[in-house]
This record gives sequence, structure tokens and C-alpha cells, in this order.
Amino acid sequence: MEKIQMKTPLVEMDGDEMTRIIWKMIKDIILIPHIDLKTEYYDLGLEHRNETDDQVTIDSAEATKKYGVAVKCATITPNAARMPEYNLKQMWKSPNGTIRAILDGTVFRTPILVKGITPYIPSWTKPITIARHAYGDVYKNVEMQVAKDSKAELVVTDKDGNVTKETIYDFGDSSGIIQGLHNKDKSIESFARACFNFALDTKQDLWFATKDTISKKYDHRFKDIFAEIYENEYKEKFEEAGIEYFYTLIDDAVARVIRSNGGYIWACKNYDGDVMSDMVATAYGSLAMMTSVLVSPDGIYEYEAAHGTVQRHYYKHLKGEKTSTNSVATLFAWTGALRKRGELDNLPDLIKFADDLEKATIMTIESGIMTGDLASLSSIENKRTVDTETFLIEVNNTLEKIMK
Ligand code: NAP
Ligand code: MG
Repeated sequence: MEKIQMKTPLVEMDGDEMTRIIWKMIKDIILIPHIDLKTEYYDLGLEHRNETDDQVTIDSAEATKKYGVAVKCATITPNAARMPEYNLKQMWKSPNGTIRAILDGTVFRTPILVKGITPYIPSWTKPITIARHAYGDVYKNVEMQVAKDSKAELVVTDKDGNVTKETIYDFGDSSGIIQGLHNKDKSIESFARACFNFALDTKQDLWFATKDTISKKYDHRFKDIFAEIYENEYKEKFEEAGIEYFYTLIDDAVARVIRSNGGYIWACKNYDGDVMSDMVATAYGSLAMMTSVLVSPDGIYEYEAAHGTVQRHYYKHLKGEKTSTNSVATLFAWTGALRKRGELDNLPDLIKFADDLEKATIMTIESGIMTGDLASLSSIENKRTVDTETFLIEVNNTLEKIMK
């Protein structure tokens, strides 16, 4: 068979530990035999980040801006234990944080559904994608403990020195606590555009919710910005695509989400997204079946798995033991990136390859061949638990049958 050709390279960001092992297996067993793979390679493995003083992370994000599509392997965010383990010059920042800041992106997380693994909410037959606004609110707060008989005020000084004051609370006979939050119109606008673009891209409805009835200025600003951008820039496009933008109160949204069948994007403020994404991921069954894509407001895409580097499995692997690590989310990061590259470069063969590879992955699991984490969840009879490499070989066998 002739290999599928690419035009523009993908930005490839390699990573750490078990996911780095999986990364190479995916390329060697599945991708390189079928595609004339063109990537611009950046090694974001912790050793190389340390050698380059983390410049490689910045370079990879800049390359993503240039080419428009990236695929990323999970990477270690160093903590104290990693300092001696990797002999680090510094406790380098999270690569995901650095890349997200450079691309000004929003993260969309989507579960991969397979027959035999029923979500805890059985009516969720389609995926729910959560988009989390990753700037401000309680994550950039300023807070204080306040002694009794104190008065707390909100004070804003504008560029001409004019002062606006408002009393937060007059503390009488009790001490207490206060908290100052902020967000930026610019950041909310980027978030809104990323959500509207992703909804159009995936042809799904977009839901957004805040508590604007209680927070009449703060949360209301989010609601207004979304509404303005929708009216001015996206309404017609949504109507053409046959999808809907739907705003409601956060508590109403939660109730509707539970009753829904899935199949939409749920845009959340920072804290709501933090909490709800963990709830939704758990309800669908497994973090190892969750993909993640970072979308910038100007339509740049970076695909990855939502899970980490699966450290415990890596240490087993280093001891020469076989692991049964789930590669599905990393596989889907690759198919997402290849499909997007194919769409941008008008390469139907590449798009079809991405579709076929996703189908092959799901068919393999639904035929009973799966890694240990899924075997413990799946209700399929005659399951066969396989090791990391065997699973990928089996996916490739299924893929080759489909491609013929
Ligand atoms: P993790 O790598 O997601 O793994 C946590 C546990 O979840 C694993 O020990 C494993 O459970 C299970 N698991 C996760 N992914 C799996 C898979 N693909 N197949 C099978 N089981 C899977 O999280 P972590 O151990 O907290 O973090 C490890 C490293 O990853 C850290 O250095 C962290 O900084 C980094 N991290 C990176 C990213 C990213 O790059 N996007 C995200 C999160 C964490 P069992 O051990 O019970 O089998
Ligand atoms: Mg969380």
C-alpha cells in the first residue's frame, strides 16, 4: 500500500515516562507504516526542558502558532520529588500552562465512549465536552482574614486618580474573611470565541451558564460578553450549521445536564469547569478515555490526552515488566491532530485515515480486546486483557482490515 501523503507538518511535542513509551509505539506500529508522517519535532521530555532552560516549550508553542496544529504527549510538571530525580536546575513551570498562556487558549475535554462501559448516568449516550475558562476568578484571588470591628471596602483608583469605594462589610462583633476576585473582558472574549469556534467546528450546541441573578455585575458581564459576541459574529454561522447557543443559570444547567443525553459543549467559568470536569470525567468511567484539545480564539489547535504520564506504570516498565497502559486518549490526540491537518490542507485521505483509526480503536475494545483499566469496567463477555504493545498491534490489525 502507498503511504498517505501530508503537506504541512504537524507540531509534535514529545513528553515523559509511560506516555513517552506509548508515543513511540503509536508512531512505529500504526502511524509510520501508513503515513508519510511530516512533523516538526519538539522534545518536551523533562530532561530536554531542563537542558534548554524550558526554551523548547516556548519554541513548540511558537511553532504551533505558525503551523496551526499540534499534538502533545503528557509531560511531567515538576514538584519537589522531581528535583533530585531529574537533577533539575529549577522547578520548571507546567508546559501546559506555558503553552496555554502563549496561545491564549481554552481547553475542551471530551470522553471517548465504547459499548460495554456504561456511564454512571446511563442516559449520557453521547459525550459531554467541557470547556473551562482558565483565567482569573478565585484562581487569582486576593484574600484576607479580618479582625472584628473592622470595615472592609472595595477601592478602585482609575488612571486619573479618581477613587470609587464600596463597603464590602462592616465587621462588628465577629472577625471574618474577605476575598477579591477579578477577570478581564479580553480573556472572557477569547474564551467566548474559542467556544463558539469549537461548537461550529464540531457541529454541537454550546451551553453556557453563570450565576448572573446573584452576581449582577461580575457574572452578568460574562453573560453579556457571550451574548454580544454571539449576536455580532456567530449567530448566522450557527443558524447555517443548525446548532444552537443556549444560556441559562448554572443550577438550571446542572439539572439539565443530568437529564440530557450528551452531545453538546458545556462552557464553564473557571471554578465551575474545575469541579464539573472532574464530575463528568468520573461519570463517563475513566480518565484514560478522555481527550483534551486546546483551542485559541484565532483557531489554533493543540491535541492531547487528559491524563498524565502514568508514572506508576513507567516504573514497572523500567523494571522490565509488561504494563497494560491505556493508549486510547493518546491515539485520539493523534487522530484529532491528523484530521485537523487534513481539513486545513484539504487531504481527504488523511481525514479518512484519522476516522478509520478511531473506528478501529473502538472496534478493537468492543470486540473484547482491551487494557486492564478498561477490563475492570467493561461488561463485555469474553474479554481479553492485553499489554500496552499488544493492544496497539491489535488496533493496527483492525485498522488494516477497515482500510481494505
Ligand atoms: P496520571 O498520570 O494521570 O495517572 C494517575 C493514575 O491513573 C495512574 O497511576 C493509573 O492508575 C491511572 N491512569 C491514568 N492514565 C492511565 C492510562 N492511560 N492507562 C491506565 N491507567 C491510567 O496522573 P499522576 O500520576 O497524578 O501524574 C503523573 C505525572 O503526570 C505527574 O508528573 C504530573 O505532573 C503529570 N501530568 C501531566 C499532565 C499533562 O501533561 N497533560 C496531566 C496530568 C498530570 P493505576 O496506577 O491505578 O493503574
Ligand atoms: Mg479539578
